[in-house]
Amino acid sequence: MGGEGVRYGVTCPECGGAGSCTAGAALMGGQIEWSYETSCPVCGSQVAHCGRGTIPEDLRVRLLAEHGPTGLRADRPPGGGAAAMKVLRAQSGGTPAATKATWEGILAGRWSGTLAEAEQLALRLRAGGVVVVTVRG
Ligand SMILES: [Zn+2]
Repeated sequence: MGGEGVRYGVTCPECGGAGSCTAGAALMGGQIEWSYETSCPVCGSQVAHCGRGTIPEDLRVRLLAEHGPTGLRADRPPGGGAAAMKVLRAQSGGTPAATKATWEGILAGRWSGTLAEAEQLALRLRAGGVVVVTVRG
């Protein structure tokens, strides 16, 4: 389990001063939790914003830019991975064809995401009986 964070400058919504934002995402109890904390040294305002589930796209882009993608390495399970595909389909809600494409992508080492996303997917695939590890970079 782990998380990734980024820190960047923002314009304070209260006073227009140069504030900073610390944001990140981590896997907590099987759920992705993300947060933004903005603080301003000029007026002292502090704003926190957090949530669960899908990481907001702007944060996702920052995390990938700062830390690079995390991939998965999985062994094709005996029987072809029907359980794994069930797990993937429940997660994405996609069509069977899209799910199969995702699964084949994971097996081929083409899947990547943020660390929290990779850890969550690995956790779910393991629950489906797949031997899978996360790989940084
Ligand atoms: Zn301010």
